[in-house]
Amino acid sequence: MERKVGFFCFKDKSARLICALFALTLMLPQICLAGEEPEIQGQDAVQQQSEIQEVQEKTEAPNQADSQENREDPNAPDMSATLVAPIIPTYLPIIMYHQISRESSKLGAYVISDAEFEADMKLLHDNGYTTVTIKDLLAYVNKEGILPEKPVMLTFDDGFQSDYVYALPILKKYNMKAIFSIIGKYTDENSDEKTPRHVNYSHLSWDEIKEMQSSGLAEFQCHTYDMHDMSKRKGALRKWSESAEDYRQHVLEDLGKLSQACLEHIGVAPTAFTCPFGCYSDQLGEILKEFGFPAIMHSYQRMNILTGNPDELYILKRFLRTHNKDVSEWVAKWNELFKEPIEDVKKAEKKI
Ligand SMILES: [Zn+2]
Repeated sequence: MERKVGFFCFKDKSARLICALFALTLMLPQICLAGEEPEIQGQDAVQQQSEIQEVQEKTEAPNQADSQENREDPNAPDMSATLVAPIIPTYLPIIMYHQISRESSKLGAYVISDAEFEADMKLLHDNGYTTVTIKDLLAYVNKEGILPEKPVMLTFDDGFQSDYVYALPILKKYNMKAIFSIIGKYTDENSDEKTPRHVNYSHLSWDEIKEMQSSGLAEFQCHTYDMHDMSKRKGALRKWSESAEDYRQHVLEDLGKLSQACLEHIGVAPTAFTCPFGCYSDQLGEILKEFGFPAIMHSYQRMNILTGNPDELYILKRFLRTHNKDVSEWVAKWNELFKEPIEDVKKAEKKI
């Protein structure tokens, strides 16, 4: 079993050497025991779990006592521990939802019923899945946090009002988190009191987004400010008639507009771009990276394998949840994958 432990940073070499010898002395009995007694595996696993827990605790709450101590004696070696979370390769299924409705005539490829959404949450909950967000993925690739044993990501595209009316209460009931990719222009329009609204067709307002954000279960991401359209261009792709530079400027301006609006209304800028209509090009990818997005969500329907490489976040693939889809088939397949830890990525890729 591979064991990854945190390391310490010291300002001078002698302090580092003394501590390394000290650490080795502490570890010696454990190394001998592991060699002699195969049954130590169980304890070892428990210990690794407690180390992981320790990493989580350290990540969430930095040890203030340590830093206080260091401040008292400026000449003392820097003994503050920099714990690094272990990267454990994992599968990551991501489900793509759009709208939720109680009108049966509306149900289809992009609209499911609230009962279907609740059944999905119950199924994932009963099968031991834990929802993760883009924030969790960034902590994982930055070695600042670990992912749960069976992670799953729930994503909602287009920022429909049904996210607030139907999805949020169900997420609260199961304590599950979801990512909502909003279109800034629609949000602004729906925040105007004069705009007639109905859950069957409306989009979220900033007040609804604020309330969702304060639940701690919603993360808001970028589905462009005003490029969710197929009439002027294919989503956020370049028009034939525009120069590469004009296109770049147009996209950067659009992304900046939504980021600014999110900062103003909810105090957090998006960290992921969700491709409108799944349209993507390398040129768009370069602009998104230039803007600073560390993650891009696509519509390729495939399982993700994460190994800690930050580049993997640029190609997050998602399964489209349609009306009448038997999600238990997906979950049964995922359960099989999660039974075995990923030791060989090539082999794991063949399984998906
Ligand atoms: Zn969309």
